[in-house]
Amino acid sequence: MSDFDEKDQSEEKKELENIDTEEKKGEDKKESDYEDVCFICRRPESKTGKMFKLPNNITVCNDCMHKTMDTVSQFDYQGMLNNPSLIDDLNKTMSDKGYSGIRFVNIADLQGEGGIPNKQRVRKKKPKTGEEPVLDIKNIPPPHKIKAQLDDYVIGQEHAKKVISVAVYNHYKRVATGTMDDIEIEKSNMLMIGPTGCGKTYLVKTLARLLDVPLAIADATSLTEAGYIGDDIESVISKLLAAADNDAEKAERGIVFIDEIDKIAKKKNTTSRDVSGESVQQGMLRLLEGADVEVPVGANSKNAMVPLATINTRNILFICGGAFPDLEEIIKQRLKKQTSIGFNAELKDKFDKEKNILRQVTVEDLKKFGMIPEFIGRLPIIYTLAALDKEMMVKILKEPKNAILKQYQKLLELDEVKLEFDDGALEAIAEKAMEKDTGARALRAIIEEFMLDIMYEIPKDDNIGRVIITREYIQGTGGPIIDIRSVGGENPDHLRVIEDKQ
Ligand code: ADP
Repeated sequence: MSDFDEKDQSEEKKELENIDTEEKKGEDKKESDYEDVCFICRRPESKTGKMFKLPNNITVCNDCMHKTMDTVSQFDYQGMLNNPSLIDDLNKTMSDKGYSGIRFVNIADLQGEGGIPNKQRVRKKKPKTGEEPVLDIKNIPPPHKIKAQLDDYVIGQEHAKKVISVAVYNHYKRVATGTMDDIEIEKSNMLMIGPTGCGKTYLVKTLARLLDVPLAIADATSLTEAGYIGDDIESVISKLLAAADNDAEKAERGIVFIDEIDKIAKKKNTTSRDVSGESVQQGMLRLLEGADVEVPVGANSKNAMVPLATINTRNILFICGGAFPDLEEIIKQRLKKQTSIGFNAELKDKFDKEKNILRQVTVEDLKKFGMIPEFIGRLPIIYTLAALDKEMMVKILKEPKNAILKQYQKLLELDEVKLEFDDGALEAIAEKAMEKDTGARALRAIIEEFMLDIMYEIPKDDNIGRVIITREYIQGTGGPIIDIRSVGGENPDHLRVIEDKQ
């Protein structure tokens, strides 16, 4: 028997003796010989490590405690606590009953992307010294340079690109200098009018990326007056703050793009309160002009658990965009009225045939459409984008720096396959897209549809060296031309044609 065993045995003996003596000492002492077990998993403290002591002599081990906390934080109460409108209702009821100090919290807000830890923090604003402007005027490229950059990505829309370049240049010049003596330069908020899919959002996105400023894109249809179901108007600033990584200073020189602005036109013939139309326009006035707005950080609704940041909107550039579907008719009517007097009366129907009638839009037309004068007044730069024609569609397919065709060519290049489109194919794609009436947005859908077969078939065969997409293939009457790689270079003979899709 080893020393060690002997030691153990003697220790055991001692312990037994101790127990004997302690038993004699009475009931109370007995307690210390027992160890706590976890209320949930029943494991003793010697196995689980130190336990949490809860009231009523309940002990819970570390593991079980953590599991419980995790489960509770994920529990959705059947979606109850993730429903913002329900929470708003609950809060309203509570405040109606006089419990204004109690607020329900939307769990979804706490669980937002990235979890609580990052979003709960706000970057401190630097104390303003007054001398150094945030954006150095020398760093703002002049309008022609901004436009040249835009040209690399946005096809056509020359007028819009020119206007936006000058406006952005002026805006950031104004931001950089603060004020110019006594003359305060007016804010260059813009209103873009153009049919769907003509590049309104794309233009703004490209611009924000080139200027390296945060951009928030909001949909006017989802906005409602504060207190009603929907996003309240200040939520757009909250989005901007998120886009600026919660950096308030960066957000204050960002761009907010509000799409579908025509959907918040004053509703005609309505007797009920127009909470998603005229009221939204009213609510936006303050933001457009420049105001201090308190926004929740890392969440889209204000509540007790979310920190607030104050953002001044004075230097935020607001760009509104919309298709204004019936505006053309309003403009035509006005033009007709003007010409129906005097010698030009016989030219009344000439406007029906005129293209790009939108270009002649005036503030009066927009008021007639349902935009309130104060709102229009705060968007001093109004311009239109033209509907895309076939030629522009073809250019969009192949010319921009990140053109869709270039993306596919690059993908196939990785398989050492050359992808080409003949002119007829490009035209056929553009024609198909024109039929859909959703502008350039249709292009990607069409290309993806027929490229699926190509991307599926080509990697099957290592010998394929070149694929030429033809008009027939797009129209479903033929196949693409496939060139097989030959040892002595490219084989000019088209050896195979992928079977028709039908
Ligand atoms: P909308 O005018 O409805 O806001 P978008 O700007 O979202 O339309 O356009 C949809 C897509 O079409 C863009 O992502 C872009 O790829 C493409 N696109 C539209 N217009 C142009 C254009 N003029 N030049 C290049 N691409 C364009």
